[in-house]
Amino acid sequence: MGRLQGKVVFITGASSGIGEACAREFAKEGAHLVLTARRLDRLEALKQELTQAHSDVQVLAAQLDVRDKIQIKNVVDSLPAPFKDVHVLVNNAGGAIGLDDLVDVSEEDIDFMLNTNVKGLVFVTQALVPGMIERQAGHVINVGSIAGKEAYSQGSIYCAAKHAVGAITKSLMIELVDTPVNVSCICPGLVDTEFSTVRFRGDKDKADNVYKGMQPLVAQDIAEIIVFTANRPPHVQIADLLVFPSAQA
Ligand code: NDP
Repeated sequence: MGRLQGKVVFITGASSGIGEACAREFAKEGAHLVLTARRLDRLEALKQELTQAHSDVQVLAAQLDVRDKIQIKNVVDSLPAPFKDVHVLVNNAGGAIGLDDLVDVSEEDIDFMLNTNVKGLVFVTQALVPGMIERQAGHVINVGSIAGKEAYSQGSIYCAAKHAVGAITKSLMIELVDTPVNVSCICPGLVDTEFSTVRFRGDKDKADNVYKGMQPLVAQDIAEIIVFTANRPPHVQIADLLVFPSAQA
């Protein structure tokens, strides 16, 4: 039996891209899944796919906007057995809307990027980590970004948000050092997902231009690494991992 068999994995942003791919990869390990995002119809379809494909896997789909603390509390407090004891939290929900020059970026877009990538990640972590400490087992895996290591033109707020994810990961890791709860940050480079066009407000030409002449990662590439990270023995902590397409410098 694998380490993740029968364990509960809570994924934010599981309705598309990396989060959805994580659900498929964790299901292969026999983990039970709590799938959350705003688009419940997507989660329900994924739940159906996974429960049909894996008879040993139980899946709960819950609508959740990570910016909403009350919704998080309601979802976490009402988790039924066998989903109550969350072992792995994948803080994946996030992204960027409208990458603009700093002087042009709107307050609405600033709020979306900071509240989703940073505050949302903190709120969900606050809701689930106390249970992990109590049970003396668990793993928080944050999805950071190359944008959390560097900064680029028109990426000021998104880069700031992902730098914050790196800092939060490190602080939490230090705070939990005397517990068996591990903390990791997986930082992808270019991955072809809905994010590829969302970040340009749906402008497909701009999105395609980014990947011209190169092969970006696919969501499964990152999901496999997240599952590998979760699958390490408790004394092994993958702290911070940068994962690029080979053609990205
Ligand atoms: P997607 O756009 O495919 O996925 C983003 C996910 O986040 C969706 O499931 C979306 O679901 C969810 N989400 C967005 N806002 C909220 C919210 N307020 N509350 C709850 N869920 C939310 O893109 P990716 O899979 O690429 O993105 C996943 C993560 O990877 C993000 O954190 C992103 O920043 C990061 N990343 C992506 C890279 C890339 O090149 N694609 C590179 C580096 C990092 P819904 O809309 O249903 O709520």
